[in-house]
Amino acid sequence: MNYIQVLTIAGSDSGGGAGIQADLKTFSALGCFGTSVITAVTAQNTLGVRSVHGIPVTIIKDQLQAVLDDITPLAIKIGMINRAEVVDVIETELKNYAVNVPVILDPVMVATSGHRLIESDTVNQLVEKLFPIVSLVTPNIDEAIILSGQEINNLYDMVAAGKKIIEKGAKAVLVKGGHLAGPIIYDVLISGAEIPLVLESVFIASKNLHGTGCTLSSAIAAEMAKGNNLLSAIKNAKNYISRALQAGSEVKTGEGNGPLNH
Ligand code: PLP
Repeated sequence: MNYIQVLTIAGSDSGGGAGIQADLKTFSALGCFGTSVITAVTAQNTLGVRSVHGIPVTIIKDQLQAVLDDITPLAIKIGMINRAEVVDVIETELKNYAVNVPVILDPVMVATSGHRLIESDTVNQLVEKLFPIVSLVTPNIDEAIILSGQEINNLYDMVAAGKKIIEKGAKAVLVKGGHLAGPIIYDVLISGAEIPLVLESVFIASKNLHGTGCTLSSAIAAEMAKGNNLLSAIKNAKNYISRALQAGSEVKTGEGNGPLNH
């Protein structure tokens, strides 16, 4: 018997709700075995991010090589990348190892609390170097605005922004509409030249939303590692998020924006 091995390349959240900690919990909950390459350590809790320390690139490279040499992943999730040199290492190693499994890129930029998690010049590097080699990019509305240069106020804008992100080299993009108000949440999936798909889910009221984006992208990676195609993996991952949001909605962890309940 083999584990369903999934790798996350992301930042650590000392508060346990987002980043590597959310990813590993998600992998486990979905029946996968998680490995992790830590790109940065954040000091944060439910109230916000206090500081960010970038892990030296030589150590990031060593972690990646150690995992890829021995514990071959069936899918990879990429989260917080705070500096351009980290983009370079990831691009180089994924190419060196001829990685040919689904890679889900969550283009993490700003925490809900407002703290920047990426240097501004690194956004262009993400687009140029990682978009062409990943299977799916999962921006929220704010990230989609930055990546596309398109204002987003409604579903039509989300589709237009998604198309622009595809034009920039992404193979597929899931524009997540969770931050637009309304009783139904709309996400837009655009896969290559295919007609955009609108995926609906019921809005779940919760004050605990910390780590939602991290969890969704790692759930998609886990579901693809289990053999699901992109669309099924996204649908399963959205169901997982809805359940975890619902289960965590009344839980008090700290004084602020708490985690989902996996
Ligand atoms: N901290 C880390 C390490 C993250 O990777 C992320 C998001 O991806 C966040 C914080 C932000 O989480 P949120 O915006 O859900 O609070």
